[in-house]
Order: sequence, then structure tokens, then C-alpha cells
Amino acid sequence: MELNLPIILVDLFRLSVWLLIIVAIFLPLEKLYPLHKQKFFRQDFAVDLYYFFLSGLVPKILLIVPMSLTAMLLHDYMPLELHRQLAELPFLARFFAAMIVGEIGTYWGHRWMHENTYLWRFHAIHHSAPHIDWLVNTRAHPIDLVFPRFCGLLPMYFLGLAQPMANQVDMVPMLIMLVGTLWGFFIHSNLRWRFGCFEWLLSTPAFHHWHHTNDSHAVINKNYAPLLPWVDKLFGTFYLPKQWPVKYGIDEPVPANLMAQLLLPFLPKKKSTNSKSP
Ligand SMILES: [Zn+2]
Ligand SMILES: [Zn+2]
Repeated sequence: MELNLPIILVDLFRLSVWLLIIVAIFLPLEKLYPLHKQKFFRQDFAVDLYYFFLSGLVPKILLIVPMSLTAMLLHDYMPLELHRQLAELPFLARFFAAMIVGEIGTYWGHRWMHENTYLWRFHAIHHSAPHIDWLVNTRAHPIDLVFPRFCGLLPMYFLGLAQPMANQVDMVPMLIMLVGTLWGFFIHSNLRWRFGCFEWLLSTPAFHHWHHTNDSHAVINKNYAPLLPWVDKLFGTFYLPKQWPVKYGIDEPVPANLMAQLLLPFLPKKKSTNSKSP
């Protein structure tokens, strides 16, 4: 415990600096170009702030063991020559190939969080937010943080597009996770910006706000891709009309207390009222 304490303090300091940077970006933007009229310090702000720090501390601890084990198990199924050729691609080619492969993996990880009734119990916490802003990005149960990321990283490592290295960090998965996390704050933000004819190419607040909508049963379970909406087009879940959603959240009750939310998926389920899962 004594050995770990300084590492945790360094992580907390790093996350606090990131928080200040993100607030400095989104506080003025959400004030200047708001989509909905809502407060910065809104309901659940403190709970979501805990999630911000949790999301920065938890994934790397929970991801390392399953990633290493699965990579070992799958190693023999990948043709070595193809693995070598992909691993030797120039950095930018490897980066974009890994981004597309990771996006498809994350899309399916996220879709399973919706379609599997047990996984949905973890993901429901993210969707329980009644109003959407930048901070909702990290409002997620640790299992919800880890599972879609795992689904995104696994094909990258399996194909050789990301490399486990003994003495140094492979920048490709690191950069992809950094871009994905920062873009996640943007697509959740309460910003009315639209990208016009490019909205099928790169995700926007409108694209992800429709993912959070609770307007009607016909428009839920759409737009799973975190970064590239054409992946949703590819798999038939793309939905992006000109207007914005009116209502967010889910019908099933989720407790307001952080600890109760973290324990909720492990407790016996009372009654299925899931409005998101088909
Ligand atoms: Zn979702
Ligand atoms: Zn979201």
C-alpha cells in the first residue's frame, strides 16, 4: 500500500490537470453555443466528478490481465507473416488501420452492452443521465469502461497493429485511447454545433446525443460508434436526423448515490423495465 500511494497521487494530480484543461475548453463553449439551457453545476455533478477520477484510475488496472491472457491464447491463431507485415507498417498507416479496427471492436463492445441484458445493467448507469454535457462522458461503471475498450484493443493487438513492448509503451493504442477519450467529452457536450455533410464521417454531439435519447422506442439503440459514424452505417444502426433529441435518460430507476450505482449490477434485479435493450 505504501508503495502504491505515490503512484495514485501522481495519477490524481495528472487527472486534476486534465480536468482543468477540459473545463477550460468546455465551460466557455457550452456557455457560448449551448444546445439546451442547463446549469454547469447541475444535478449529479458531484457523482459524475467521482466517475471522472474513477475512469482515469480504473481501466489500466482492470485491462492489463485480460488483455495479456487473451493475447497469449489467441497468439497461435494469427498467421505470423501477416502479423509481422502489419506490425511493420509505417506509424501513420498503423495508427489509422488500428483506429478503424479498434473502432469496429469498440462498436460491437458497446452494442453488446446494450443487447446483453446483464451487460446492460452496467451500461445503464451511463444512460441514466437525464441531461447530457461533457462530464457525462466519464459517468460509467468500471466494467462499462473496461469491456468496450477491451473489445477495441483486442483486435489491434491480435492483428499486430498494436505491439506489447517490454521496455517502452506503444504509442498507437495510447494515442487512439487519448483521442477517443478527448473526443468523448466533445460528443457528450451540450454544444449545438453540427458538421453538415461530414456528420457520417466523424462523430458529433448530435450523433451521440441521439444515442442517449429516450424520445421513443423507434429511435433508441442507435449510433454506437465512438468516433466514426460510418461504422454504424455499415452495421445498420446509424440514425441522425436534422433535429435534436428532446428527452434523454432511461425509464428504469437508477440510485443517485455513487456506491449504490457501483453495486447495482451485482444485486438481484427487481423487474425488467429496460427501455434501451431490445
Ligand atoms: Zn450506450
Ligand atoms: Zn454516452
